[in-house]
Amino acid sequence: MQRFKDAYTAVEAVQPENPLFLFRPDALSKAAGFFLSQFPGTVLYAIKTNPEPYVLKALYAEGVRHFDVASLPEVVLARKLFGKDATLYFMHTVKSRQAIREAYHTHNVRHFSLDSEEELMKILQETDNAKDLCLYVRLAIPNNYAELSLTDKFGINAVDAVPLLKKVRWHAAKLGICFHVGSQCMHPDAYRIAIRMARKTIRAAGVSVDMLDVGGGFPSVYPGMTPPPLHTFFSAIQEEFAAMKSGMKGGDNIQLMCEPGRALVAESGAVVVRVELRKHEMLYINDGTYGSLFDAGMPHFVFPLRLLRTNGDVAPTMLPFSFFGPTCDTLDFMKGPFYLPEDTAEGDYIEIGQLGAYGRIFTTGFNGFAPEKKAVAIKEEPLMTVFGESHAPTMSGPLEIIAA
Ligand SMILES: *Cc1c(COP(=O)(O)O)cnc(C)c1O
Repeated sequence: MQRFKDAYTAVEAVQPENPLFLFRPDALSKAAGFFLSQFPGTVLYAIKTNPEPYVLKALYAEGVRHFDVASLPEVVLARKLFGKDATLYFMHTVKSRQAIREAYHTHNVRHFSLDSEEELMKILQETDNAKDLCLYVRLAIPNNYAELSLTDKFGINAVDAVPLLKKVRWHAAKLGICFHVGSQCMHPDAYRIAIRMARKTIRAAGVSVDMLDVGGGFPSVYPGMTPPPLHTFFSAIQEEFAAMKSGMKGGDNIQLMCEPGRALVAESGAVVVRVELRKHEMLYINDGTYGSLFDAGMPHFVFPLRLLRTNGDVAPTMLPFSFFGPTCDTLDFMKGPFYLPEDTAEGDYIEIGQLGAYGRIFTTGFNGFAPEKKAVAIKEEPLMTVFGESHAPTMSGPLEIIAA
């Protein structure tokens, strides 16, 4: 991968015709180092968030050895890159029979999640009643504190979880309980509530558990969305986990795990787009909701940005813009507000930050806009970070302008 000092230098050298992805290896190692050293348990990276091999390899180089996968191709990818060195956790609660069979028999996957008796039966049948399964029952928990809720789709309610836990305990070598508080969770109490619920459910079932997996959901920072520092999430989890262990027979042996996606990789990725036309405060750019900016569409995420004008001065006054993406669909619209200099014009490049998570991977080829996968590495700080010196969110000026 080509390396540059900063985004400005990269754009000047490449003059990209298509969206250009920026990778900040330093930001990734900072995030990985923080999770690996501060989280009081095992850290699994949720591959779906950003499965680019250069991201996976960089996480591996930092010491990440556990990966949350949700499909057979993700299993195959992780095995191809890391062989036996990676432990894979198939944490999608609804898997095809083929995926279960091949994951277990061909790719040595032993960890599976489920939220129904039917899925338990599928797993037992397709693994020929394997005796070495680590099975995680996923609880449905309130996702009230999250920007993106997952609770309607996955998880079993606390009442129905009781008989399921008993059944799974009978068949599993190791039994885990897991949940997901929803993505971009803005309050540590969400984890407290979920762990207490897990504790109550386990007690009601009268089973012993081997693993508590608190899932993903750890927040990154976006304009207008500043979360509490990550260590407050970790200490809430640690406190509740300690209470859980002390109230349970054999509790000292319970293993704690988490499955971050967004918080690990968001800051390490950005995309550089080009303005193709301006109409008043509307900019027509060359990436959009069918590309890497899906979350700027319906989920209404606002991303930090800056103008990367390579020739000439830039107006000092900012205006709130909205974006249209390149496809012919009117849904390819990003409301923003995206603050940029008032003289932003056709031909200008814009860096859109915090797109290392759920960005590039959403890209479709709709309407013929299938950008090349070009990415370059830069040495610069991300536009926003939660991994600053104090581990408190800081904003290095999303409105900052770089001009020649
Ligand atoms: C998506 C997902 C994650 C990662 O979630 P983030 O909110 O990005 O941290 C973790 N676990 C499971 C099961 C997921 O589906």
